[in-house]
Amino acid sequence: MVMFKKKCGRCKKNYVPATNKTGFVICYECQEKQMQGEIKDPEMKKMFDIPKEFYEASMFLRDIKIKYLQFGSLSERQIEAFRNTVERFKEEKNDTPQ
Ligand SMILES: [Zn+2]
Repeated sequence: MVMFKKKCGRCKKNYVPATNKTGFVICYECQEKQMQGEIKDPEMKKMFDIPKEFYEASMFLRDIKIKYLQFGSLSERQIEAFRNTVERFKEEKNDTPQ
């Protein structure tokens, strides 16, 4: 897959990592405000408690968090996808020599 950067569709200022399959992109800065909010469910709180850099790198992770804050719940499938994505990020991080 070809990785490149696409300009944010909202601020048209920042670049977002994207693949040739990525459509509309929004940068972290533009979504940051939407991602603020209190999460009461301890399990969800734990799930969303991941390094900021993961959110910065993945529009998908941001989307899920925003959806959760908006609707107060997620489907099993969304939770699973979120966890898988976080796992992948962790693995990639471990592979990188320090
Ligand atoms: Zn932006």
